[in-house]
Parts: sequence; C-alpha cells; structure tokens
Amino acid sequence: MKDFGEIDIELLKRFNQPGPRYTSYPTAPVFSSEFTAADYEREITDTNEAESSSPISLYFHFPFCAKLCYFCGCNMMVTSDRSAIATYNDYLKKEIERLMPLMSPNRKVEQMHWGGGTPSYLTPDEIRDIGNFIKSKFNFAESLEASVEIDPRNLTREHMEAFREIGFNRTSFGVQDFNLQVQEAINRVQSEEITRQTVEWARELGFQSVNLDLIYGLPYQTVDSFGVTVDKIIDISPNRIAVFNYAHVPWLKKHQSVMPSEAMPSPDERLQILKMTIEKLVSAGYEYIGMDHFALPTDELAVAQKNNTLYRNFQGYSTKAGCDVYAFGLSAISQFQNIYAQNLKNLKDYYTRVDELQPATNVGYRMTFDDHVRKETINQLMCHLEIDKRGIEVKFGIDFEEYFALDTPKLQTFIDEGLLENSADKIKITGAGILIIRNVAMCFDAYLEKMMREKPVFSKTV
Ligand code: SF4
Repeated sequence: MKDFGEIDIELLKRFNQPGPRYTSYPTAPVFSSEFTAADYEREITDTNEAESSSPISLYFHFPFCAKLCYFCGCNMMVTSDRSAIATYNDYLKKEIERLMPLMSPNRKVEQMHWGGGTPSYLTPDEIRDIGNFIKSKFNFAESLEASVEIDPRNLTREHMEAFREIGFNRTSFGVQDFNLQVQEAINRVQSEEITRQTVEWARELGFQSVNLDLIYGLPYQTVDSFGVTVDKIIDISPNRIAVFNYAHVPWLKKHQSVMPSEAMPSPDERLQILKMTIEKLVSAGYEYIGMDHFALPTDELAVAQKNNTLYRNFQGYSTKAGCDVYAFGLSAISQFQNIYAQNLKNLKDYYTRVDELQPATNVGYRMTFDDHVRKETINQLMCHLEIDKRGIEVKFGIDFEEYFALDTPKLQTFIDEGLLENSADKIKITGAGILIIRNVAMCFDAYLEKMMREKPVFSKTV
C-alpha cells in the first residue's frame, strides 16, 4: 500500500489551481480543424497497412439521457423521444459501416467501452441489436475487456442481461452521493436500494469488475454527510471507486448555474471532504491509484499499476497500453499512435456528415516528436507515479536533463515541500504528492501557459 502520510490541507490549498486531467497529451483544447476528415481517413488506411495485426480498442458514444443532472459535464442530450434514439443508432451503424472496409480484419479488439450520455437508456432490445451489429463487424479477442457506463435509475435486470449477453464484463455505475438533499439539488434522486440492487445484478450475472462513481463539491455536501455516503460505498465493496472533484464550469455548461452555488462547499471544505474520503477508502483497503481513482489491490487497475502497464486515455486509467482507440458516435475521440480525431458535437452536423459517407471528424491533432516525448513523460507520472529518465532517453534518443532544462526547475517547489524527489535516474512522487499529481504533470506541458492565458477551460486540480 502507498504511504502518503498525513494529508496537509494548507499544502493542498496552495496547489489548488486550474489544470488539465491529462486523459490525453496534448489536451483537447489544442485540437484544431486543420486536422480534417480526410486526414483521419488517411491515417486509418496507413496504420492498417503498417500495423495490420496490432490490437485495437473501441469506444461508442450514446449521448441520450432521460433527465438532466445539473452537475453534468458530458456531451449529452435529454430526450424522451425513443425514435430519436433509434435514428441515432442507425447513424452509428452507418458510421461503422463506412470505416470498416479501411481497417485490417486481423486487428483484434482487446477493449471496448460504451459511454455517454447513458448507454443504459437504450432498451434491452436496442442494446442487443447494436451490440450484435458491432460484434458482427469486428474481430473480438477472447480476452476482451468490455465496460459500460450505467445509470441505475430505471434500469431492469433485463438491461444488465442484455449487456452481459453481448460480452460486457466490466461496468461503472453513477452514484454521486446518497444524501437526499444533495440528490434533489443536483436533480438526480437515486435511492441506495436501487444502487445496491444494480450492483447485485452485476455480480449475479458475472461482471468481473464493478466501479462506482462519486462526486464531491456538490451543493449541501459536508464532511459528515459525504462520510455517510463513503461508508455505504465501502459496505457495498465495489472493485473500483472513482471520486471526482465536481468541475464547476458554468461558462461552458450553462445548466450548472441552476444549482445553488452558495450551498456548495467552500474550497476548504472540499479539501476536508477529499481528505476524509481518501483516509476512509485507504483504511478500508483500497489502493489510491492516482487522480480520482481507487481500486481493491486485486483489481486489474491496481495490478497494472504495480506492473507498470497502466495507461491513460479518454476513458481515464486503462490496462491496455498501446491500443489504437477507434471512437464512434457524437463527439467521440479516436486516439492512435500519432493522431487524435474528435467527431462533430452537433447531432445535425454529425448526421449530415455520415450521410455524405465521410468520417465525422470535427477537429483533431497530429503529434510532433516533442508531443510524443512529453506524452510519455506525463503518462509515466500519472500512471506509475514516477518518470524513468533513462528509459525516456533510450526511447527517444534524447538527454533528459538537456531536453527538459526549462521545465525541471519548475519542480523545485514540489521538491521543497517533500512531495517529489528528483534523482539522477528518476523523478518520483512521494508522500502526499499523489494528490497534486496534475500540478507536477503541468510542468511538462508545452501548451499550458498559452492555453491558460487565452481561455479558462480547466477546473481546479484538487
Ligand atoms: S446521466 Fe450522466 S450523462 Fe446523463 S445528465 Fe446525468 S451525469 Fe450527465
């Protein structure tokens, strides 16, 4: 178990500033329309010729939800019109059909993720229909890791059976908070009973890993009230727990301003809630993986971290390093070795593009050599909690100290606080440094200063 000693709130406060979550490097605000649908198509063709047997990962975005949660920061749409969902599923199939012929049939799918929105807002029949369509189009590996995001509200056992039938073996449920006053303020009332029932179904049906999502920083949360929620979560004993810091960005997500901001915990209280949560989860036996994620020591995320095979992509932490991610659907982001490509975010534009039989790419990015070096550096830090300087030198043919001569002096403040060690071979997170890992990663980000000057796009780091 990692030992991060006493959590010092005053220290955390000093490092609590806006910053990226580094699910990619460069981060999404760097993507631009200079990278076009034609660029994406060419990249698919080229990489499938060059790497015709390397494994892939698939992501499918299902944007619809039954009801708006006021804290939501996802690319989603509320609808009660079932025909809108059926139409979307048809377009998703068309998008897949269009790109399939460009891909090598030898490439096995090692990983699949359905996110949203709410994939479980599909009916069981729709889940089977689109799931079987996908299965018929791709070459799935025996060892497939397939995960789906599920909203326990209005879920039936049949939904879970349908997900299991088409191969899902990992699942993630949104909980956020069990306190009713908080639930009413965020427009998401979800009883403890239905959460427990959903987890039970997942276990009965043989899902190997269950993740529960919590959010702190929401209206009416206190250390005591959130402590009750954390205790109940520990009692349910999921394999993984994600505890997200609520990102209040009403300039980007207008509906967030509906919540009573005066009832939100102060920055001090938020940090107290975080401290309490970490202490409770760690003493209950969970490993703190980093950022917002906790896992039982037997869970594959904790095992991958120990084996240095953990990776970070748009779905958060992942155990499959090096798979190209093919993403389908509204706003979905594909991620290959050398490029990122994000689909259109507007439904009408997305349908028009699919009708034109063109990739639905809106923006994207082609990696430079410097991006690769920094991406590897930041990934090592976020996943392994240390940077192997010699390994990076060998991989990229650089002299680490020389290459990062302008960046490493920024680390001094963390070293002085005992949060980081910088030796000849390694830069290593120590003690409570795991809590401000994003701040350390920011020292290696070549785009950050310019982005921060131009646009306030990021939430606070702690
Ligand atoms: S169910 Fe999920 S995606 Fe939909 S509004 Fe709520 S938080 Fe957002």
